[in-house]
Amino acid sequence: MGKSSKDKRDLYYRKAKEQGYRARSAFKLLQLNEQFHFLDDPNLKRVVDLCAAPGSWSQVLSRKLFTEDPDKENTKDKKIIAVDLQPMSPIDNVITLQADITHPKTLAKILELFGNEKADFVCSDGAPDVTGLHDLDEYVQQQLIMSALQLTTCILKTGGTFIAKIFRGRDIDLLYSQLGFLFKRVICAKPRSSRGTSLEAFIVCMDYSPPKNWFPELDVNKSVTEFFEGCMVTKDESSNDILPAWVEEDRVIAEFMSCGGLDSYDSDATYHIDDDLSSNIAKISLDPVQMPTNPPYKKALELKRSGKLTRAI
Ligand code: SAM
Repeated sequence: MGKSSKDKRDLYYRKAKEQGYRARSAFKLLQLNEQFHFLDDPNLKRVVDLCAAPGSWSQVLSRKLFTEDPDKENTKDKKIIAVDLQPMSPIDNVITLQADITHPKTLAKILELFGNEKADFVCSDGAPDVTGLHDLDEYVQQQLIMSALQLTTCILKTGGTFIAKIFRGRDIDLLYSQLGFLFKRVICAKPRSSRGTSLEAFIVCMDYSPPKNWFPELDVNKSVTEFFEGCMVTKDESSNDILPAWVEEDRVIAEFMSCGGLDSYDSDATYHIDDDLSSNIAKISLDPVQMPTNPPYKKALELKRSGKLTRAI
């Protein structure tokens, strides 16, 4: 499919390029913020973007915290840290770290950069490489969310906000109830820019208030269960059994909210040049704002050019 036809098929893809964002995901964060206003708080100073590459969420954070703040004195104390396994091209006012969010050294580095002060806001749009094996993908995604949550509990200030991408799989209500022990309000939100056909959604966790006498500490030798010991956040042991024993579980159904006004584009629709809605679509295609720094296909292309690419038998 040509670039211009993708522009029509996916208006958020096109809009991202028009507005200088590196990825269409920028609109997910913008629409979540339209609903919850977590980025409009003038006291927001220390912000962490986990799993940030190529960087469209960091661009939104940079624009909200720096470009749109009329009080330039106020911006002196602000800091945005973006972390990803992949290298990221620089973004104004954002410190980029190429690191693994599951590693305790990453936590230490973030705290060092913040001068041992806690963060006001942490977001995570993490997604592991998809294998196509559905159960494995779901498991790895859950592990990534738990890692983001573990890291967050160690760096977020009391009263802070955490938002993260989730996939509404089988055990999602368990995650909601676990989060309920750590945050006063947990909402499952679906921005209009996230395809309705996808299980993707975002948990918006507000007012971090960990249980008294529970002190999070990231340690590679501790399992997730050990980490959350004493905090009521436990693993659902019964889900692995073929016929689990009947237990009355205190499970939570999180509030569900759709974000982004009805006037925003539908991410599942295809628009045409002569549609009123998309009359501002230029007929020419736009280049991506930022080319991938280290895409997985780079090595394959190099091998192909040198005639060394072979087919697996
Ligand atoms: N929010 C980003 C944006 O707006 O540009 C898009 C994030 S992308 C959907 C998911 C990212 O998660 C990938 O760049 C991937 O490298 C990163 N990721 C996956 N596992 C990670 C890990 N363990 N540590 C750090 N980053 C990770």
